[in-house]
Parts: sequence; structure tokens; C-alpha cells
Amino acid sequence: MTKVCIALNAGSSSLKFQIFEADAANERSIVFRGLFERLGGPARFTVKGEDGKQLDETSWQDSDSFGHEKALLHLIAWLQAHKGDRELAAIGHRIVHGGAFYDGPVIIDDNVIANLESLTPLAPLHQPYNLEPVRIVRKRLPKIPQIACFDTSFHATQPEVATTFALPREIRERGVRRYGFHGLSYEYIASVLQEHDPALARGRVVVAHLGSGASLCALDHGRSIATTMGLSALDGIPMGTRCGSIDPGAVFFMIRELGLSADAAEKMLYTKAGLLGVSGLSNDMRVLREAAPTNPDARRAIDLFIYRIRREIGSLTAALGGLDGLIFTAGIGENDVATRAEVVNGLAWTGLQLDEGANTRRGPKISRGSGPSAWIIPTNEELVIARQMRRVIADKLQPAAAARA
Ligand code: ADP
Repeated sequence: MTKVCIALNAGSSSLKFQIFEADAANERSIVFRGLFERLGGPARFTVKGEDGKQLDETSWQDSDSFGHEKALLHLIAWLQAHKGDRELAAIGHRIVHGGAFYDGPVIIDDNVIANLESLTPLAPLHQPYNLEPVRIVRKRLPKIPQIACFDTSFHATQPEVATTFALPREIRERGVRRYGFHGLSYEYIASVLQEHDPALARGRVVVAHLGSGASLCALDHGRSIATTMGLSALDGIPMGTRCGSIDPGAVFFMIRELGLSADAAEKMLYTKAGLLGVSGLSNDMRVLREAAPTNPDARRAIDLFIYRIRREIGSLTAALGGLDGLIFTAGIGENDVATRAEVVNGLAWTGLQLDEGANTRRGPKISRGSGPSAWIIPTNEELVIARQMRRVIADKLQPAAAARA
């Protein structure tokens, strides 16, 4: 009987999964991978096999209100029907916020769930969706161990000066500090830098994770020393629907002078700001790029996004004491040729020089000359969940077997 594990990445309307063998020699060999999209609406399930070929596709009508619970039960039933002689050994979850509780993956128990629930106000757009599959599995498959893998834990290496807000001690002691997110993505990038450029893996690197959520991270010798997100996933550069850094005074103005409640202001900053808010059109970079030539608001949103990224790269370069490389990843970073060109062309002062042809051909290296290098590296958060799960299984769940091996 071969043991398999599921790596789950649950968002507000999607559930991505990878199913892999716990003991596979090649960590990249995936038995099945797929996703549920448009959960809560006309959901769609697609799954691919080891060779990348699509094995199944199912769609549901809007009226079925197909949410996370139904999706997870569908996945478990699908796996049951297709697993052959494989046995489900564990399920790992991407959890956005581990707060000050966890600096690495943990086996989930009641205490862990209570700790993670207490962090929901710091990640209202993510934490509840991350925790929902955890609860469903505990109810339906209580014997299956579950492992939490955190977006915050990679940033535990940041120095205190990078994580401290200039606030009185009694507030700081309540955990009000910068944590940082997208850690599973940054951990993946740090782990593969060696394959691309061994010197860079030991150097000063800024990684730009530009997806619906977006942040940047400064890596020194592959360790996070600073990042643009903070206590919550609102800080840093503008995102699809989130505002990024704004003067906290603007929030008080909206509450006192514009009459928004704290809840309404929070909802607006998470769901109606960013590219969507500035363009008044869309949170989707593809839509904005298409509209930009004739729509000044779409152009304004893109210009602000690029400007803020460049400024943050300047700030992270200062934190690193110089720049050896810049990496683009996630939906926009991996796919949008124009965003990469606009960012790099605005950073000539660092010595970065864009190789236009390589940028259009999707790299991986997109710079030329003797200055810092620029790269496109597709991220793989599920692989990091799988790695962390294998580690926890070997250390905590099967330590005797691991010692014998
Ligand atoms: P998340 O996983 O955080 O939901 P993604 O990493 O999938 O987000 O990134 C979504 C973003 O990537 C959207 O703004 C989308 O427009 C952008 N994107 C995806 N493909 C392309 C493309 N070919 N060109 C430009 N932008 C793209």
C-alpha cells in the first residue's frame, strides 16, 4: 500500500490541490493535481494526472451553491474512486497567518485551531477559507493527520528592526508587529535559486510575488530579511482589490469624516481598493492592459502599481545594502511582459538592464550586462506544502520509520 498526501491551498473561491506519494524519490512527481474554481457559484473541477494530461472535468450549475465543503467531499470521493492501492496518509493546508505562534509547520489539533482562529481578524479574506477545509476533514476523516503550513513562517528570520512598529510597548506586546506573507512562495523561490544561479542564491535578491495578492521580499543568502506586507495582508504594494500601504490617517478620515464604520472601511480596503478601486474597471491585469490605451483610469491603476513596486524595490535594496538580482513570480510576474519591462526599465539606477527579447520569450533570465540580473521563476506553493508535510511526517508522525530508513 503506497501512502499519499494531499496538499491543499484554499482561497475564497478556489481550492487547489496536489496529491503526491509520501515516500516518492522525486519530490516533483505528483500523482494528481487540480483545482476547484468559482466556488459558491457555477463551480468547476479539473484534475490532471502524473503526465499533466487532464483526467476529469466536472461543472456545476450556479443554483447548486457548490462551496468548499462540497468541493472537499467531491475530492475525497474522487480520490477514493481513483486511488488504486494508495492510502491517504495526511492532508496539508496552506494557512495564511501563523502569527507569533508558529515559525514552521505543525500538526493540527484543537489548540492549533483555536490559535489560528484568533488570527482571523488579521487575515479576514484568507484565514476563514484556509480553516474551513481543516474543520471539514476533522469532521469527516477524523483519523487523518492534518498539517498547517504557514505563509508567515518563512519571514521568522527577519531582524527585530524590520518587524517592529513604532508603537508603545503595551501595544507591541499584544503581537502588533510586521509578520509578512506569501512565505510558501518565497521559500520555493529561495530553494530553486541555486539551480538558476548559485552565486545569486548567496546574494542580495528581491522577489516580486505579483498575483491577485502581491508583495515583495528581500532575500539575503536565501533568508527573508524584510518584506512589504505587515501585520495583515493589506500592507505594501497595491493589489487586485487591496490598497497596499496607506497613511493610517486616511482610515481615521474615512471613519470620522466620511462616516464609514470600521467594518465598512476594512471591507473597502480589502475588496474595493487596489487596481479595482483606482481603475473603477477590474482587478484583473489582463483586462487593465487591454483597456489602458484608451482608458486613462486603467492606465492610472497600472502606473500606480508599477510606481509602488519600483519604490518598494528601492526600499528593500536599501535594507539589503545592494541588489544582485530581481525575481518575478505569480500570475502577473510570470505572465505580464509589460509589467516586467516597466518595473525593470525604471530601475536603471541599480544597473539592471532589460533584455527585451528574453523578456518576451519569458526568460528565465531577462536581463543583460554586468549589473544585477532579473529572472522569471514560476512559483510552486503546493510543492513547499508537500515538502513541509514530508518533513513533519518523518519527524513527528513516523520518526521510528525515518530512523530505520
Ligand atoms: P492568486 O493565486 O493570488 O489568485 P495569481 O497568481 O493567479 O493570483 O495572479 C492573478 C493575476 O495574474 C491577475 O491580475 C491576472 O490578470 C494576472 N495574469 C494572469 N495571466 C496573465 C497574463 N497572461 N497576462 C497578464 N496578467 C495575467
